Amino acid sequence: MIPVTLLHTPPHAPRDGAPPLVAAKPAPPSAARSPGISHAANVRDGRPQIVIIGAGFGGLAAAHALRNVPVDITVVDKRNYHLFQPLLYQVATAGLSPAQIASPIRGILRHQRNATVLMGKVSGVDRASRLVFAGTQRIPYDYLIVATGARHAYFGHDEWEPFAPGLKKIEDATDIRRRILIAFEKAETETDPAERARLLTFVVIGGGPTGVEVAGAVAELAKTALASDFRNIDPRLTRVLLVEAGPRVLPVFPESLSGAAKRALERLGVEVRVGQAVTACASDHVMVGPERIETRTMIWAAGVAASPAARWLGAEKDRAGRVVADADLTLPGSPEIFVIGDTAATKDSNGAPVPGIAPAAKQAGIYAAHVIKARVKGRALPGRFRYRHLGNLATIGRKAAVADFGWLRLRGNPAWVLWGAAHIFFLIGFRNRLTVMMDWLWAYISYQRGSRLITGGGPDD
Ligand SMILES: Cc1cc2nc3c(=O)[nH]c(=O)nc-3n(C[C@H](O)[C@H](O)[C@H](O)COP(=O)(O)OP(=O)(O)OC[C@H]3O[C@@H](n4cnc5c(N)ncnc54)[C@H](O)[C@@H]3O)c2cc1C
Repeated sequence: MIPVTLLHTPPHAPRDGAPPLVAAKPAPPSAARSPGISHAANVRDGRPQIVIIGAGFGGLAAAHALRNVPVDITVVDKRNYHLFQPLLYQVATAGLSPAQIASPIRGILRHQRNATVLMGKVSGVDRASRLVFAGTQRIPYDYLIVATGARHAYFGHDEWEPFAPGLKKIEDATDIRRRILIAFEKAETETDPAERARLLTFVVIGGGPTGVEVAGAVAELAKTALASDFRNIDPRLTRVLLVEAGPRVLPVFPESLSGAAKRALERLGVEVRVGQAVTACASDHVMVGPERIETRTMIWAAGVAASPAARWLGAEKDRAGRVVADADLTLPGSPEIFVIGDTAATKDSNGAPVPGIAPAAKQAGIYAAHVIKARVKGRALPGRFRYRHLGNLATIGRKAAVADFGWLRLRGNPAWVLWGAAHIFFLIGFRNRLTVMMDWLWAYISYQRGSRLITGGGPDD
């Protein structure tokens, strides 16, 4: 018989009206009826079972913060690695290789004895029976932390995606890298000047940090690393446009730093278009308002939508699909379910929305772990979630970046050094830190980019 009932008795009853953890949960009828369904091997010793969906910044921070708590944790992720998304654009622009910004989840949690890692794509949650569905797995939980992040969104124009891919996964980054490098290869052999110009025009859509970083890196790639590699084209004549619908790039930064970023982009030769919205994307052009720009390569950095967690949970969501969470990051009516990071719409104590950035996801993960710890140990609960903003950083290219810590604003070289140091510091894994540092040093000295591989199909495939 498949063991579908989980019984446990926590040391202390919860103090905050959370559902009693001492009750036996009913056997989930659907699982019991389904032959061939296996259960995660995480039912141990009657200790509270914590399931964390997603081993991104939020999920991993929660798992780490629960390392000394008498609970059993199951971390479920559809990938076997944690991805450092802030450096994805460097993979997309041939600066780094994928393995330098990803670390196996099992490796990260190998010393944490109370954590088990499961690779599986979650497709649903049964709140009544407290089960997570991932493939054939039915994973029982007492506390659930949903940390499934976000993906890109096209403001209702999903038909643009094939022409203007977004940057969220390793596969997106290697696809964008392929598109960029193939455009140069095709331009080298193209005899029609109009098509050649189209191939050498790159349009980045969205002027937030990712768009700014991608546009700067594509311009640098063309004007330095590729500059003397071709015989029939001059990559330095490449046209890079950055299109932003709002009035300025980097809208979360103070105006002075936005202006500095715009000027730094322009020094690299990027045409910055602000206050202009993209109205259509096709295989050979993009419409920016009424203007048609001929291009073969567009990169989408404009919008994000949360994972489908709201649907699994049958929960209220905001316009971006994010689950609306209570002040303690739990789902209204389900104090055993926490929703954190990019997949949650959370407000700070002053009513401001918590931004979708890595430090916010980490802080939320640690906070959820503290609430669970307090409940399991029968201690006083921490107050509401309070987000502490540490600052904003964005790089534009070699020796150019902006940094805003509120009390300190930096631009140019000092901001760039700080940006590099912060990213190396937060990367997971000593080997990754070392190799990224070496590659950046090499790129700095040689102006070269070591990861210029076209994978997943060449020009004639
Ligand atoms: C290109 C890019 C650049 C960025 N740059 C910065 C930056 O410079 N600074 C910064 O602070 N933030 C940056 N961010 C934002 C930052 O990466 C996110 O805010 C952060 O990753 C959110 O953490 P999270 O834990 O909510 O989700 P994520 O880190 O996205 O993790 C979600 C995890 O859930 C897993 N998952 C998703 N769906 C399922 C499912 N159905 N089943 C199982 N597992 C699932 C995923 O595989 C993933 O491992 C950037 C984001 C992108 C895309």
